[in-house]
Amino acid sequence: MPPAAVQHVARYRFAGADHYGIRGDGAFRRLDRAPWLGGRETGDEDPAARVTLLAPAIPTKIVCVGLNYHEHIAESATVVRGAGVPEEPLLFLKPPSAVIASGEPIRYPAGVTRLDPEGELAVVIGRRARAVSPADAMAHVAGLTCFNDVSARNYQRQDAQWTRAKGFDTFAPVGPWMAVGLAPDRLGVTCRVNGRQRQSGSTADLIFPVAALIPFISRIMTLEPGDLIATGTPAGIAPIEIGDRVEVEVEGIGVLENRVEAPVA
Ligand code: MG
Repeated sequence: MPPAAVQHVARYRFAGADHYGIRGDGAFRRLDRAPWLGGRETGDEDPAARVTLLAPAIPTKIVCVGLNYHEHIAESATVVRGAGVPEEPLLFLKPPSAVIASGEPIRYPAGVTRLDPEGELAVVIGRRARAVSPADAMAHVAGLTCFNDVSARNYQRQDAQWTRAKGFDTFAPVGPWMAVGLAPDRLGVTCRVNGRQRQSGSTADLIFPVAALIPFISRIMTLEPGDLIATGTPAGIAPIEIGDRVEVEVEGIGVLENRVEAPVA
């Protein structure tokens, strides 16, 4: 369970219907609507063992930040030509069609020769954000979640734009739920493959922290409730193969777990 002031809010399917609910002891306390629409508890309790987790939000867009940890910039030299410390956040988009929940498979696409997971903290937007000030940034956050910025490195090297490298179906695992009331500023971010640690960092080391990213991005594009901002990955990237089990854990949130499977024919 999270610390007292923090709630874990999941989106899940139970008995054929989709709900939001607050994670409790062995059950989710159902909400009547999304938290950012003022969801209230209905009094129903859905047993955790009988729900299927869904991605905690349905984004209109996923805004990703590249090269936001110093040590990851150093290791990215072979992938990103001329990678240096960015003077402003480096942004790219992933399509909403790439989203999968915790427990769903990452599909290894045909034509990909190197596939990497990237463990990241993601922000779920809760209020429409357009040109917000740094002081108002956090008021637009619904919660925080774990994100895996799955990346096809051979296409990232080959293409000037990263749309193909980052945009395949299943390349945006998100979940298992969002943490509401958790400060984003010094959270451990780890990525494990088959139980062995690959990446470990702290959001304290983000070059552009959450409170700076929301003003920057919202001056370019309006952020809608449910939109995701993936804040970047710490050092330790390495490839995954079909059959591997990938876990992204963010302190205070939980563990996002996905297996790598062969593509659907
Ligand atoms: Mg990334």
